[in-house]
Amino acid sequence: MCGNHRADGSPIDHHHEPVFRARPRSLPRRTFLGEVSRGTLALAIFTPTVLAACSSDSGESAGTTSTTTSTGAEGAGSADTGPDNTSLQWGRANLGFVSAYVLVRGTEAAIVDTGTSGSAPAIGETLADFGLGYRDVAHVFLTHHHPDHIGSIDAVLGLAESALAHAGEADLDEIARETINPLVGGEEVFGLEMLATPGHTDGHMAVIDHEAGILVAGDAILGSGGGVQGPSPDFSTDIAVANESVRQLAKLSFNTLLVGHGDPVEANADTAVSHLAASLA
Ligand SMILES: [Zn+2]
Ligand SMILES: [Zn+2]
Repeated sequence: MCGNHRADGSPIDHHHEPVFRARPRSLPRRTFLGEVSRGTLALAIFTPTVLAACSSDSGESAGTTSTTTSTGAEGAGSADTGPDNTSLQWGRANLGFVSAYVLVRGTEAAIVDTGTSGSAPAIGETLADFGLGYRDVAHVFLTHHHPDHIGSIDAVLGLAESALAHAGEADLDEIARETINPLVGGEEVFGLEMLATPGHTDGHMAVIDHEAGILVAGDAILGSGGGVQGPSPDFSTDIAVANESVRQLAKLSFNTLLVGHGDPVEANADTAVSHLAASLA
């Protein structure tokens, strides 16, 4: 499981609440409380380095940029305001302490992560924000095998009958489904490059649209008060490898960062990640 950065008591950016759906009720209460208590425990033993990274990146830029740029249509962000059907748009299914994302290219969609069990309706509503439904979903990407990211995979694939599912090869045993395409990094699917980002889990994958400048990082990077922080040492398989993945991501160019936990960073996200990478041990 993963640390919940919000358990640290940092203020949640309510600017997003009217824009993105908040659906805490879809979470089993017991699961949520379990995550919070574990997240609190994890925070209590965070290294000073991580805390420093958090505080140095929880700065003003993130708070102001998210307010000024979340102007996409109907709860969705757009990297390109033009009518070009091939430009990538994104929407967030805010499931409480974790998010799933919908990526839309014209009349086709991809889903990145499926949240906890019971999240399929909320993801469906995010598709509906674009006038799309599960029938329009061509791909489902799982960033990694943790249950808050694959919890609704059966329901989602049951609804998205024509979708291909993808996940990192090294995580497939944990996901335990036979019909998932194994990824090792470097593949191009749906106009996205698959990025091997191991460390949080062995097979963790991120996806990036280079043209639109949108990186979906899963749990390779955590959101924190509108900024970013590194993956939690307590919920990562190998934190040294995970930190190296952050350094690799920091070499890329992207404007928007979509994270599994916390709010998206909607402007100059690569700068924030570069600062984070420089702060990691
Ligand atoms: Zn997670
Ligand atoms: Zn995780």
